[in-house]
Amino acid sequence: MSKTKKVDIVVVGSGPGGYAAAFRAADLGRKVLMIDKDEQLGGVCLNRGCIPSKALLHISKVIAEASNLSSVGVSFSEPKIEIETVREYKNKIVSKLSGGISQLAKARGVETLHGEASFLSNTELSVKSDTGQTAISFKKCIIAAGSSSSMIPGLPAGHPSILTSRTALELEDIPKTLLVVGGGVIGLELGQVYASLGSEVSVVEFLPALVPGADEDIVKPLKRKLSKQFKSIMLSSRVVNVVPNEEGGLVVVVDSGGENKQLTFDKILVSVGRRPNTSQLNLESTDIKTNENKFIIVDEYQRTSVENIFAIGDIAGNPMLAHKATHEGKVAAEVASGHPAAMDARAIPSVVYTHPEIAWVGLTESEAKSNNIPYEKGEFPWAASGKAMILDAQQGKTKVLFDPETKQVLGAAIVGPSAGDLISEACLAIEMGSDADDVSLTIHPHPTLGETFAAAAEMYTGTITDLYIPPKRGK
Ligand code: NAD
Repeated sequence: MSKTKKVDIVVVGSGPGGYAAAFRAADLGRKVLMIDKDEQLGGVCLNRGCIPSKALLHISKVIAEASNLSSVGVSFSEPKIEIETVREYKNKIVSKLSGGISQLAKARGVETLHGEASFLSNTELSVKSDTGQTAISFKKCIIAAGSSSSMIPGLPAGHPSILTSRTALELEDIPKTLLVVGGGVIGLELGQVYASLGSEVSVVEFLPALVPGADEDIVKPLKRKLSKQFKSIMLSSRVVNVVPNEEGGLVVVVDSGGENKQLTFDKILVSVGRRPNTSQLNLESTDIKTNENKFIIVDEYQRTSVENIFAIGDIAGNPMLAHKATHEGKVAAEVASGHPAAMDARAIPSVVYTHPEIAWVGLTESEAKSNNIPYEKGEFPWAASGKAMILDAQQGKTKVLFDPETKQVLGAAIVGPSAGDLISEACLAIEMGSDADDVSLTIHPHPTLGETFAAAAEMYTGTITDLYIPPKRGK
């Protein structure tokens, strides 16, 4: 090994978890080195995930809204899609943000190193790059190496027509027909992007519902929209066999409710979940422990089974969400720098950025029911919201779950435009231990979608005036 570097804290990975950890540690006075195997900083979220997908979903939303305007007397001609320019728009955003991370690193004196890191011991790493190998001796290490797309077995390996979220976001072309395998977050978001850009999209989902994890009533308006936008949604179904055909496409056998269907597609997007990137790290040379799903086991301080090594983000367990990684990254950096901190967030929000968006946080109704957790709820249908009517979003809904004894907010779920932005108020309510009166008595601006959160609480307290509900006794 040619060179040895000595650092206080080394961070492996530069995604939203890794760079937050590195920058926070540097701000606390540590000498920090951040390593990434990609040349562009920012990890999957910035380069091949959240940011490019949301850029494309923005286009998809504008197309849908422009087309909806015909019902109110404003018509546009069919959109003309220049895929090259769409790709440039997305790539420009990604490189601007990635460049921003490099600048922020420089400003803080965080050194960055391009190469693939693997452990040599509990205090040393080796980093392999095109220019050679570097040994790193560290006092503390924060592993933020993320996750990769899972594959289903039996697919023709490396076939160019089989896409993952990474290759789908490269937007090489717009296939005439696309099969999305997995009706979760990635499948529905990217399925909707490709449908808006002109693909005929079908979905195969293993379970009986789309977006497992979210309440069925919240997913319902999205499912209704997708049923119109997609060619077919096959629930309780699985792909049994895939064989390439001579035209470069794929012949797929789908077992749908016990019946085998043979279908042909130009491309397949596999979005059946993600797995932690633990295998590349040579953890065997350390005392770091992993669980049965290969996630690194951590405590509330993000500490692994090795005192001086921390793990954060996707590699440290579910939910695999950028905002959870960022929060954990800051906790790890603070603990590693000798400050009191712990991962004690009461709730982590989830958002699916489709049209309509769906978002939820804290307790869900299905979780409450299956675990016999007592709850009461307030629900406000957006059909009674002026702002929702203006936006043609009357199908939306805001639902808040309360503790029957303390009346505190336990969870919330929203479906409709900007649900992902609106859910933040519920996150704050849960963190602050707010009750139904706190929420209903907070003055919300009118007319906004935000006021549906207060209205849901008013539905619960019985003080709603925008709808008529029979008065609650004793109120
Ligand atoms: P996911 O877990 O959301 O969905 C995967 C879906 O595939 C599930 O519904 C599952 O039942 C189904 N499935 C599994 N095996 C199958 C099979 N053989 N055939 C058919 N269906 C099958 O996973 P994802 O959509 O791949 O996303 C991966 C991770 O990335 C998730 O943890 C997600 O939270 C994260 N992510 C989040 C966002 C966001 O926050 N908006 C966006 C993209 C990704």
